[in-house]
Amino acid sequence: MRRKTRKIFIGEVPVGGGSPVSVQSMTKTRTEDIKGTLKQIFSLKKAGCDIVRIAVPTEEAANSLKEIVKNSPLPIVADIHFNPKLAILSLKAGVQGLRLNPGNIENKNKIKEIVSIAKEKSVPIRIGVNGGSLPKEILKSFGGPTPEALVEAALNHIKILENLDFFDIKVSLKTSDVFSTVEAYRIISRLKDYPLHLGITEAGTFLSGTIKSSIGIGILLYEGIGDTIRVSLTDSPVKEVKVGIEILKALKLRSGEPEIISCPTCGRNTTDLQKVAKEIERFLLNNKIDLTVAVMGCEVNGPGEARLADIGIAFSKNFALIFKKGKVFLKIKKDKALEIFKEEILKYWKEKGASQI
Ligand code: SF4
Repeated sequence: MRRKTRKIFIGEVPVGGGSPVSVQSMTKTRTEDIKGTLKQIFSLKKAGCDIVRIAVPTEEAANSLKEIVKNSPLPIVADIHFNPKLAILSLKAGVQGLRLNPGNIENKNKIKEIVSIAKEKSVPIRIGVNGGSLPKEILKSFGGPTPEALVEAALNHIKILENLDFFDIKVSLKTSDVFSTVEAYRIISRLKDYPLHLGITEAGTFLSGTIKSSIGIGILLYEGIGDTIRVSLTDSPVKEVKVGIEILKALKLRSGEPEIISCPTCGRNTTDLQKVAKEIERFLLNNKIDLTVAVMGCEVNGPGEARLADIGIAFSKNFALIFKKGKVFLKIKKDKALEIFKEEILKYWKEKGASQI
């Protein structure tokens, strides 16, 4: 069961309160490069991203936001560190979310000003605690960036906003260590009902980052904790989104996406299965076909191994079998197999659509 949290909105996208778990990413272009940044946002949208965050390190970047927000197909969260002026400029530019730790801003009047504009514009603030930048006093009293230290830092920031009567809050507690991150989220989820943004920070390159994120985010989501996720990779943001979506799909938390079941192949396989699986995946995505489709290397074990798929194909040396729910219904020549399989997928998809009406 999912943990009950408050519902907030980043633009039109609901986060928390039983809403579908959303996928976020962050642009990696220079924010001052409006055209390049928008191009990346459009490719993120195409990949299935729900919310995009943009670093705002300079006034020039903040001034670019107006144009970016105006043309963006996704709600924008401005990522601000320390500088209240940039937060105010971002809010005035119309961003739909702010990532800001109020405890890092010394001038209390400036915090009040930011909160009052955020309130007026219904813009939520994400408190983003990061294991690498905890305050010295907290590190000293907890003996390092422990889960309890992360939570303490978050509670301090939360208190500042709550004291200003601001509750449109989202929280993240990230470290690059799976154990500490998971534990920190577990603790805060027992203490506060704000929606949680999950992530393992500085997770690494594509392979290691995907694994770390899948384990950390996966454990928490499995326990019902987490309302929005961001996979951090030293790679393209589109890959971050794709990995995020796959994590949600694996946990049955995202529907409306195709799922490919494909075998790892073994000595019985006689087909270039990687190529076939990729082509079928592309076909499903391009045609927005929300089916579970199997691509299997042999006709002996394939249909049985993939009996949970809606429809599937299993190859032999010269033929291919097309099957539905593990039962074979067509035997075709291998050279025409892909083409016929795609037609059968479309037919099945239409039939399924018709039976749902
Ligand atoms: Fe091997 Fe056939 Fe299983 Fe694929 S489906 S792994 S080829 S036994």
